[in-house]
Amino acid sequence: MEDKSKEIMEKEKEAVIESVATPAETVGTAEPVIEPAAPAEAAKEVVTSEDIKAVHPSLDKWKPRTKLGKEVMEGKRGDIKSILAEGTKIKEFQIVDKLLPDLGHEIIYIGGSPGKGGGSQRTITKKTARMHKSGRRFRISSLVVVGNGDGIIGVGQGTGKEHRNAIEKAIEHAKLNLIFISRGCGSWQCACSQPHSLPLRAVGRAGSVKVELKPAPRGTNLAVSDDLKKILKAAGIRDAWCRTSGNTSARTNLIKAGFNALKSMNNMKQTSFLEQRFKNADQKKMEKSE
Ligand SMILES: [Zn+2]
Repeated sequence: MEDKSKEIMEKEKEAVIESVATPAETVGTAEPVIEPAAPAEAAKEVVTSEDIKAVHPSLDKWKPRTKLGKEVMEGKRGDIKSILAEGTKIKEFQIVDKLLPDLGHEIIYIGGSPGKGGGSQRTITKKTARMHKSGRRFRISSLVVVGNGDGIIGVGQGTGKEHRNAIEKAIEHAKLNLIFISRGCGSWQCACSQPHSLPLRAVGRAGSVKVELKPAPRGTNLAVSDDLKKILKAAGIRDAWCRTSGNTSARTNLIKAGFNALKSMNNMKQTSFLEQRFKNADQKKMEKSE
């Protein structure tokens, strides 16, 4: 009888040890879930830090893998406009870093957090959650517009576990998504042949959102929403009118529709009349610079 009771006691001890051990393990796995529960602080850190402006400061460590990358590295190709006109796919973002060192970027406010007096306050990153057996797992996404203010723009989206990662990925993606847009003056009220507006009416769609951009005379400024302004400013367009329809509070689709509208201008073969206008504008620019 004593042996049996001893065995039972030992078994109970082991059970107790196991029951103690398992919660400790679960606590260990739950810790990283608790950490990102302070989104406001992390978001503020991203906004205030200026080092995001120079995400890839050193090009010394870059080893080009594509043919285009090697040519750019050797200095054979120096003009990004010709690369974009050719239609060659840029597969390394360092190419863009090398050829366009002054490329700026703007973060679109796609996320939202509940505000103080009701409603929601826009944030730079969107936070989504998926359920796990030990709690919620978060994923953060961001949308970024890059542009040199002179006809070259790109839009990119990125996701990551942290704000910084998401923004960096979005910038890299945007650099691989560059397009060269044609600017001009398509407004009958102006007809100045300077590239301050769009050459023609452009329509773009994404999801339910439809964006229609129209050329405007000089001095109109950008009569568009704040988010579309970021795209047009990055592209170097100063005057434009705009009409939107659909669910425009879906910012991702709004920006994509605006980007598609600008992209759609490249689908049209420009007439000799327009080409002549651009040539005149270029000549005027040259004369002014001289
Ligand atoms: Zn004009």
